[in-house]
Amino acid sequence: MADKTIPYKIYLEESELPKQWYNVRADMKNKPAPLLDPKTGKPITAEALSEVFCEELVKQELDDTTPYFDIPQPILDFYKMYRPAPLVRAYCLEEKLQTPAKIYYKFEGNNTSGSHKLNSAIAQAYYAKEQGLKGVTTETGAGQWGTALSMACAYLGLDCQVYMVKCSYEQKPFRREVMRTYGASVTPSPSELTAIGRQILKEHPGTTGSLGCAISEAVEAATTQEGYRYVLGSVLTQVLLHQTVIGLETKTAMDKYGIKPDIIIGCAGGGSNLGGLISPFMGEKLRGEADYRFIAVEPASCPSLTRGKYVYDYCDTGRVCPLAKMYTLGSGFIPSSTHSGGLRYHGMSSVLSQLYDDGLMEARSVEQTSVFAAAQEFARVEGILPAPESSHAIRVAIDEALKCKETGEEKTILFGLTGTGYFDMFAYQKFNDGLMGDYIPTDEEIARGLANLPQV
Ligand SMILES: *Cc1c(COP(=O)(O)O)cnc(C)c1O
Repeated sequence: MADKTIPYKIYLEESELPKQWYNVRADMKNKPAPLLDPKTGKPITAEALSEVFCEELVKQELDDTTPYFDIPQPILDFYKMYRPAPLVRAYCLEEKLQTPAKIYYKFEGNNTSGSHKLNSAIAQAYYAKEQGLKGVTTETGAGQWGTALSMACAYLGLDCQVYMVKCSYEQKPFRREVMRTYGASVTPSPSELTAIGRQILKEHPGTTGSLGCAISEAVEAATTQEGYRYVLGSVLTQVLLHQTVIGLETKTAMDKYGIKPDIIIGCAGGGSNLGGLISPFMGEKLRGEADYRFIAVEPASCPSLTRGKYVYDYCDTGRVCPLAKMYTLGSGFIPSSTHSGGLRYHGMSSVLSQLYDDGLMEARSVEQTSVFAAAQEFARVEGILPAPESSHAIRVAIDEALKCKETGEEKTILFGLTGTGYFDMFAYQKFNDGLMGDYIPTDEEIARGLANLPQV
């Protein structure tokens, strides 16, 4: 078995924290396609985007050539409250699996919001504050993003209005209360508060909502109130950029100990944690300096990379946001009410979509019950109770480690453990009671979602 010369937990010194975010687009030969203005069908201008988003974030969104962006000092100071995040060697899991593989995970659950989302929440709230805004609006799926944003807004004294996907609002009352404790107002989506919410309710009575619906409502709320902008917890390239602190810290820690991962795995909802984790490694691959295998893991119930199409689509159900070229199931696709709220999004980051289309990254879809089986196995040996979203990555990491057991290969596997699952105990209860099922959309359902793609 492993000789354990590598520590169980690799921490960095505060002075080793990244001081810049890395923009992987700068090293991509095939750049992600530009966002299109839904009104004109042409590449969107900074001016048009600034009606919805903060100016500094618009600059980051549109810049595909600058490789590094300085992290402003106040954001670095906030990061120091909960970063560096540990890189953990999963010795106990390796032993349990009796695999020759070496397994590492980067744990992002060490903050009250319980996930990596805080890395971008503080950045976005900071730029809103710098612009002199009163507040921000947003959507949240399972509640992690809303929780993270409400923490960041409380810290900076900004108003925070959250539209929460209705099924999560009902399934996860505790997340809702954490947000309210931090001072955010939380509305179940679709709601009667916005015109688009009322329209969606009329067309789909009794719907449990989706991220796409909630985005439309939050955008409408931002653009109809003076001094407000909209912020988003995933999908956009600015979010992926902020999340590169995950990958940069990981790379520094691994380099310190001379560790080189063979396979890097992450769960993919809108793609921000995965994009953030793999960016520095992908940069090396794009520049021809090193080679890695990257695997995106998505739920079989919402398989945008593995069963979607690579086309321009709306980012939201209400079709008010810019169009992005991405792997998508169609903006009208409403995934079944699974327990991984953070992965119920119809599209995928345009950066990851392009990398996947270029064959630089693989994708796999996994079923819910197998994900919870992996979560349980992991919790029992590694101690951490993982978020259902994160457990998608655990599933594939275990599968890859078991392959190594068969072949005898000593591969080094790295995966992103994006958060904790304390607020997902109804889901664990269902699994523990043997009542959890799997839902895989039929080909007809996928075709229906793709039938109404915009013509561009
Ligand atoms: C939101 C979330 C995800 C998925 O979002 P990405 O943008 O794809 O990273 C994954 N894990 C957790 C814990 C989340 O909260």
